[in-house]
Amino acid sequence: MNERTLIGELGKHIGETVSISGWVDVRRDQGKMVFFDFRDRSGMVQGVVLPKSEALDAAKEVKNEYVVSVTGIVNKRPEKNVQADKLNGDIELEVTGIEVLNAADTLPFDITTDTFGIDESVRLEHRYLDLRSARMQKNMKIRSEFVRRCREFLFGKDFTEIETPLLTESTPEGSRDFVVPSRLNPGKFYALPQSPQQYKQLLMTAGFERYFQTARAVRDEDLRADRGFEHTQIDIEMSFVKMEDVMNTVEAMITKVVEDMGYAIKEKPFPRISYKDAMEKYGADKFDMRTEEEKAAGILAYAWVVNFPFFEKTDDGKWTFTHNPFSMPIPEHLDWLMKGENIENILTTQYDIVCNGYESGGGSIRAHKPEILEATYKIMGYTKEEMMDRVGHMLDAFKYGTPPHGGIALGVERNIMNLTGETYLREVQAFPMTRGGQTSVMKAPKPLEKKQLDELSIEVKESKNK
Ligand code: ASP
Repeated sequence: MNERTLIGELGKHIGETVSISGWVDVRRDQGKMVFFDFRDRSGMVQGVVLPKSEALDAAKEVKNEYVVSVTGIVNKRPEKNVQADKLNGDIELEVTGIEVLNAADTLPFDITTDTFGIDESVRLEHRYLDLRSARMQKNMKIRSEFVRRCREFLFGKDFTEIETPLLTESTPEGSRDFVVPSRLNPGKFYALPQSPQQYKQLLMTAGFERYFQTARAVRDEDLRADRGFEHTQIDIEMSFVKMEDVMNTVEAMITKVVEDMGYAIKEKPFPRISYKDAMEKYGADKFDMRTEEEKAAGILAYAWVVNFPFFEKTDDGKWTFTHNPFSMPIPEHLDWLMKGENIENILTTQYDIVCNGYESGGGSIRAHKPEILEATYKIMGYTKEEMMDRVGHMLDAFKYGTPPHGGIALGVERNIMNLTGETYLREVQAFPMTRGGQTSVMKAPKPLEKKQLDELSIEVKESKNK
C-alpha cells in the first residue's frame, strides 16, 4: 500500500495514484457507479467508483461513517463539474481499491448537518460523534489555535508557564466549591480550584515575575448559556506592574492573536469606560458595541471596564468584595481602605475586558503588603483569627518581600464563543455537561460503591431526589 496522503494535499498529486485514509462522509450509489465523499482531518474529496471497476463490489458494502483506506487516481474534474469555492472542488479520486478498516452502525443522528436542531442529550451522549461534524471540528480547531497563539505570544514576552495544584484549599472567591474527600484525612476535604489566584500571587513572591497557565477553573455555580461548572482560563500574573501594564500586555496579545487569525477588531486601542458610565450608557457592565452590520460581519468589539466599586453590601448588611478580595484599591483610595472610611466610594483596580456582550476576562493589581489585605478583610468583618484561617498563608508570604504585582484571567470559552459566533459555552468545549450537570458520554455524577464510601469515611444521607 502507498503511504497515506492527506485529503487536503490531494491537489498536489494530480495524475498520481495515491492512498487516503478516513471516513465515508456520504455514499451515493447510482447503480453502475458509486460516488463518495471521503473525509479526514484535513478535508473532503469526492471519490468515484467507475462501472466495471474492481472496487465496485467493495464499494457497495461500504456505508456512511465506515473507516476506510482507499487507493485511487487523482483526476482533474471536467470543467463543467468544477466547484471552485470548495476544497478539492476541481479534482476527484477515481477509486481503484477500498479496504474497510472498521465498519460503523447507522449513527444516532446526522452529523453532515450543523447539528443545531438535534436534541442536546442525544448529542452529548454520543459527543464523540457530534464532534465529527464540520461545526464542532471547526470550533475545536479555532480553540486550539487561539490558545496556541496566546501561548506563543506570552513565551515571546518572557513568561514562564507554571502549573498549579488541582487539589487545593477552599478559596474565599465567591462561588461554591467542588470538594474532594481525603482518604488519608477522614472528615477533611480538598477543593478544586475556582481559579489559581492565590498560587499565582505566591509565584510572584517566588520571583517568577511573569507567569501564565492555561488553567482549569471549577465553580459550582448555576449553569447558564455562557457558564459551565468547568472552564479554562489563560491565567496571567506579572510583577512590578500597574493597571496600564497588564492591560496593555493583554490588549497587545488579543490584538495580535485574533488579527493573525483573520478577524477584524472594531476599535483600537480598545475603548476604556468606567463602571459608572457603562451602567449609565448600557445598563450593564458587559455590553455589545457593534452595529447590526458589524455583527453580521463577525467583527470583534473589545472594551475595558474600569473603576468598579471595591465593596458592596450583602443581604445581611455586611460589606463584601465585588470582584476580588486580593485587589488593591486605586491609589487615590488606598487611604480610605486602610482607615476603613468611605467604604462605598472605594474603587478597585479591577479591569474587565468585554467583547460582543460577554465579559471575556478580568483581573486587577493586588494588595502585596500584609496590612493592605488585612484592611480589606477587616472591612468585610473578619476577626484576626478568621483572617488568619482564610488568608494567613498569604499574609505570611507578603512579609517576605513580595513585589507589587497584578494579573488577569481570560475566559477561553467566552473568547472562542466570540470567534465562532456560538451562543452556548458547551459548543466550544469538547466534552461539556448537560444543563442538569450530567457529563457527556460518561455517567457522572453517580453514587459511589459502599466500599469506596467506607474508605473515605463518608456516609450519604438519603438523597432528596430519590
Ligand atoms: N482570579 C480571577 C478570576 O478567575 C482573575 C484574576 O484576577 O486574575 O476571575
